[in-house]
Amino acid sequence: MKKHNFNAGPSILPREVIEQTAQAVLDFNGSGLSILEISHRAKDFQPVVDEAVALFKELLNIPEGYSVLFLGGGASLEFCMVPYNFLEKKAAYLNTGVWAKKAMKEAKGFGEVVEVASSAEATYTYIPKDYTVPADVDYFHITTNNTIYGTELKEDLDVNVPMIADMSSDIFSRPIDVSKYICIYGGAQKNLAPAGVTFVIVKNEALGKVSRYIPTMLNYQTHIDGGSMFNTPPVLPIYTALQTLRWIKAQGGVKEMERRAIEKADMLYAEIDRNKMFVGTAAKEDRSRMNICFVMAPEYKELEADFMKFATERGMVGIKGHRSVGGFRASCYNAMPKESVQALIDCMKEFEAMH
Ligand SMILES: *Cc1c(COP(=O)(O)O)cnc(C)c1O
Repeated sequence: MKKHNFNAGPSILPREVIEQTAQAVLDFNGSGLSILEISHRAKDFQPVVDEAVALFKELLNIPEGYSVLFLGGGASLEFCMVPYNFLEKKAAYLNTGVWAKKAMKEAKGFGEVVEVASSAEATYTYIPKDYTVPADVDYFHITTNNTIYGTELKEDLDVNVPMIADMSSDIFSRPIDVSKYICIYGGAQKNLAPAGVTFVIVKNEALGKVSRYIPTMLNYQTHIDGGSMFNTPPVLPIYTALQTLRWIKAQGGVKEMERRAIEKADMLYAEIDRNKMFVGTAAKEDRSRMNICFVMAPEYKELEADFMKFATERGMVGIKGHRSVGGFRASCYNAMPKESVQALIDCMKEFEAMH
C-alpha cells in the first residue's frame, strides 16, 4: 500500500533525494568508496559543502556579508549558541510555543530577557500581535513556524531591531528577507535533510560584540573561519541537504515551494472547515502551511481512535497530534505531494459519510 508520510520530523524528503543519497552511500561519485567512509576533507567532499552553501545563498537570496554554516547539535543547541554569541545585555523573545520557550530559557542564563508577548494561556493556538519590542535589545527572537501547535508567521515582521529566527520547520517554504535577520537557524530534519545537521545563516558583522568568552565550538566565528569544517561535520546529512537544495531549485525555487504550500494547506483546511467531524485548532489567520493541526469536533470526540485506525489502514502515516495538543497533525512539508494531501482529505470525507 502507498504510504503518505505526514511525519512532523524527521519527515518526508523527495524520493529522488533519498535515491541519490542511497547511491552515494553505495558509491560516492564513482570513487568506489561510500560517502560514509571518506574524509570530510577529501577533495570530493569540499564541493558538496561549497555547492550547498552557494544554493542556500541563491535560493534564499542571502545578501553579501552573511555566512551559511552546517553544524551539529540541532536547533536545541542554537537556543544557547544564539545568546552566547549575540546577547550582551538584553534580548526580546516572542513566546509562541514550546520551542520558543526553550530558546528563551537558555537566553536567561546570559542576560536580561524580555518576553514581549505570549500565547501560552491559550495553549499557543495563536501568534500574539499587539506588543512592542524594546528599542534597546540586542535582538528580537522569533519562531517562524510552531511545529507543535500549527501556527506560523508567514511573512517577515517589521521591527526596528535585528531579528533572530528559529526556522526549523518552515525554511525554504517561502521567500524571506534575510536582511531583517542577524541569524536564522534550524534543525534540518523537517524540510531539508535527515537529522544530524543544523543550518545557521549568520550576519558576519553582528558577531564579536559580546564581551564574554565563548567556548570555541560554540562560537559562530570558529565555524565561519573553518568553513563548517572546524571539526568533522555531519557529512551524510549535508550531502542529502545538497540534493534537496538542487531539487528545490529544479522545481522553481522557494516561490514555487510557497505556491505549493499554500495550495496544499488551503485544500486541507477547506476540508477541516467543511467536514462536520473535525475542527482546526489554530486561529485562522495564523494557520501554519507546514503543520496542520485538527481535532474531532466535540460531538465526535469518542471517534478519535477510530479515525486514526481508519486513516492508518489507508496508508496515512504520522498524523497523530503532538502529545501536548492531541488530535491530529498533518505535516505538509515541501516534499509532500498534493496527491497525499488529497488522500487524507478523501479519508476524512469517507469517514464522515460512514457516520
Ligand atoms: C523540531 C524543532 C526544534 C528542535 O530541533 P532539534 O534539531 O531536535 O534540536 C526546534 N525548533 C523548532 C521550531 C522545531 O520544529
